[in-house]
Amino acid sequence: MKMSMENAVKALDAINEKTKGLQCPMCQSRMFDLAPVELQIIGYDREKNDLNISFGDRVDFVSVISATCKNCGYTALFNLKKLGIIESEFNNSNNK
Ligand SMILES: [Zn+2]
Repeated sequence: MKMSMENAVKALDAINEKTKGLQCPMCQSRMFDLAPVELQIIGYDREKNDLNISFGDRVDFVSVISATCKNCGYTALFNLKKLGIIESEFNNSNNK
């Protein structure tokens, strides 16, 4: 989901404030691309080795923004709730 430029700038400011500037843990580069897109990490119900993917039901998710190292491509994800960009972090079974 496309993010407003205002929220993308807020996210970048929050990341820079909290990390003192990104540095790649793989190659130590300090040059990153921040995609102005809200991504969802989705969790499905797992029963042993089976995933229960039913589209009529809710799924747990965490909203994140990604920052990709311009040198090696390592990608870091930042939780948008923790950055103060969005209100709710995930749906859970209590919301059904
Ligand atoms: Zn890197």
